[in-house]
Amino acid sequence: MDSGVWAAPGRVNLIGEHTDYNDGFVLPFALPLRAYVTASVLDSPQWMVSSREEPGDATLTAAELVPGGVEGWARYPAGVVWALRETGYDVPGARLDIHSEVPVGAGLSSSHALECAVLTALCDLGGLDLPLEERPHLVQRAENDFVGAPTGIMDQTASLRCRAGHALFLDCRSMATEHIPFDLAAVDLAILVIDTKAPHRHTDGEYGVRRRTCEEAARILGVPALRDVTVAGLDAALGRLPDEVSRRRVRHVVTENQRVLDTVALLRAGRYGEIGPLLTASHVSMRDDYEITVPEVDTAVSAALDAGAYGARMTGGGFGGCVLALIDAPAAEKVGTAVASAFAEAGFTAPAAFPAVPSGGATRLS
Ligand code: ADP
Ligand code: MG
Repeated sequence: MDSGVWAAPGRVNLIGEHTDYNDGFVLPFALPLRAYVTASVLDSPQWMVSSREEPGDATLTAAELVPGGVEGWARYPAGVVWALRETGYDVPGARLDIHSEVPVGAGLSSSHALECAVLTALCDLGGLDLPLEERPHLVQRAENDFVGAPTGIMDQTASLRCRAGHALFLDCRSMATEHIPFDLAAVDLAILVIDTKAPHRHTDGEYGVRRRTCEEAARILGVPALRDVTVAGLDAALGRLPDEVSRRRVRHVVTENQRVLDTVALLRAGRYGEIGPLLTASHVSMRDDYEITVPEVDTAVSAALDAGAYGARMTGGGFGGCVLALIDAPAAEKVGTAVASAFAEAGFTAPAAFPAVPSGGATRLS
């Protein structure tokens, strides 16, 4: 094979926020919105990248493939080539033309959709023997060590491994996965994703601060990661932490892990409609204990609940981005309109809303 088209999706996280880097549980599903790569093999070791959405076509040579050696959006595909080569794979030179439906910076992981599409294309073009289970770590290496973004393991795993009609229950410590049936349409429910359009505010810095607080708390508690603190042991753990901020951060992580487990139990039992209170409790925990929400996302959650949603929460790293709401499928327009009205009243930029059908992971299209 020397050419083709590949695609990889953006994702939303149904529940389990800021748990991934604490070795905990997450429950994302893939969106129908995808990044596409039209790729063909070149007969020299260079990578020609272009994007329909971003200016700055680039031709990258092997010599430029060092962390810090590539600027702009081309860092993302370059990082994937770099991580493959660092891992010992003989990556074919390729032309990679990118086009994506995933909105940038909305918390739906446009960066991972792009990276996962590029990785899948390069693996197929080069006939690289890289098992699916190992691919998320390679993409994480690209994003952490080449692009320089300190992200966890959830987003790449979702983009690569999700299945249509299912949410992906992922244990971020063992990397064990389970595809949990989540066919909402069959029970006339829907997840409405609301892009709040809130500009990200100091996201990277705050993300790093949260991570360090968690690592420090785990060190004080003498556990490898906060995953090892259970709800039953929470009060005792909190009593051993020196300050109120770290107590609140730990409470979020520990209770959020439990909410993921409780959500999975309900989904396994087919009780989709009953997960609403867990979603809303997750939001309250992010707002009050983890302190990663902003007025736009709090407004979207309140307006969706007031309009009849069973539950609603911010999804993604925080400080802006998207909210998801569990609703009766026919209520999508009503809930979307209610959120838009609340935004207009508050003087916020108009939001966008779309129902999100759980979709499949990265794949070759042609
Ligand atoms: P997100 O939450 O959407 O992943 P990030 O800041 O992590 O936000 O990644 C967004 C970056 O990914 C963009 O600034 C750009 O560099 C790159 N990117 C995403 N989609 C595209 C695209 N279609 N074309 C080029 N670059 C893209
Ligand atoms: Mg990203």
